[in-house]
Amino acid sequence: MSIMVKLKALGAAREVGRSSFLLDVGEKILFDRGIKLGHDETEYPMLVKTNLDAIVISHAHLDHSGNLPELFTKSNSFVYMTMPTLDLSKILWFDSLKIAKFEGITPEFSPLEIKKAEKYTFALPYRKKVFLSENTSLELFDAGHILGSSMVKVESEKKSVVYSGDYKMQSTRLFNGLDKRIGKADVLITESTYGDRNHSDRKELEKEFAEEVQETINRGGHAMIPAFAVGRSQELIDILFEHKVDAEIFFDGMGQKVARTTLEYPELLKNPKSLGKALHLVNWVSKGKRKPVLDKPSIIVTSAGMLEGGPIMWYLKKLYQDKNSKIFLTGYQVEGTNGRKLLEKGIVDIDGERLKVENQVKMFDFSAHASQDELIDLAKIVNPELVVCVHGDEKVINVFQKRLKNEGFNSVAPKLGQEIKLD
Ligand SMILES: [Zn+2]
Ligand SMILES: [Zn+2]
Repeated sequence: MSIMVKLKALGAAREVGRSSFLLDVGEKILFDRGIKLGHDETEYPMLVKTNLDAIVISHAHLDHSGNLPELFTKSNSFVYMTMPTLDLSKILWFDSLKIAKFEGITPEFSPLEIKKAEKYTFALPYRKKVFLSENTSLELFDAGHILGSSMVKVESEKKSVVYSGDYKMQSTRLFNGLDKRIGKADVLITESTYGDRNHSDRKELEKEFAEEVQETINRGGHAMIPAFAVGRSQELIDILFEHKVDAEIFFDGMGQKVARTTLEYPELLKNPKSLGKALHLVNWVSKGKRKPVLDKPSIIVTSAGMLEGGPIMWYLKKLYQDKNSKIFLTGYQVEGTNGRKLLEKGIVDIDGERLKVENQVKMFDFSAHASQDELIDLAKIVNPELVVCVHGDEKVINVFQKRLKNEGFNSVAPKLGQEIKLD
């Protein structure tokens, strides 16, 4: 019987969010099971209508891991991910249950399914090939994106496939870039978040960021730094210390738990000493004890990064009319989120109320994603017959595909629900 190799996009098709892709190489392998957090509602990937031989979670960000436990309400499958991805995902899954309860929403899964997901997970180290059958193997490589993030390489009788997850080619303050030993494959499924542009020089960006935080303090304001709990908030604290910014730094929200987990894996960090020191010197704020943070000019590093929930909402409500204070956005802002609205229109919606924000607002693009040039670099390493572009806004993907064509690569960008034949 000849096997038809196919890939179906169940999410993150011409959009950023709810990553989930079903690869059929004879064995059926699901890459990621994420959600898309919008302002009003959460979007889920399309249903999986087949028995799975394996599920691979590339990294802990909710747009890749958020709905994995839900799969265990129906059936059990083996899951592969790194140990830190499991640790971080558990923090995020339990947090989403807490949020659902707070908002009076019925969650997609219960603690029971989280337990099942954990029970069925093989925690794989990087570069350890495991076999799903005689002919099919999978292997994880460091993706350089966040703690535990990985790229997946599947090798089967007919095709070899690399699924990039989210990745970063160059090293950042916390992590070394991706592991270039990933090697060649027939098909590359790649994220395209920044497929239309290149990032500014990171060292310059860090310096400028630290200077503007200091200016805000000197003016008597508060530097509000909403940041992704996983990865970004720890990195920003490290940057503020490195640049010796003169003010008290307060660290609030879920990033604290993530920070503890991060320090448990010094072997995966570029400079565990400097991060450890920085995290020990900041003030860890606990809920209900936030008032002193506002007593004098201060720096507040807290979640959520796109101003959708989290302690930042509390600070924003107190400070949104203070012209001396400034909001530093520090990562990609998904369409429709408060972060994007703040950036484009100067407004945010909190609890049904629209606030006209009078703080200064500035975007610092501390991206943990590959820039256009880095995306091309990966394509050159993998050197595939076909590049499948996912995890990018429609307009961005169009630009990226043009660049791929100029570089001599065939590419395709599936629509939601579309199945591509890879033979
Ligand atoms: Zn990510
Ligand atoms: Zn992502």
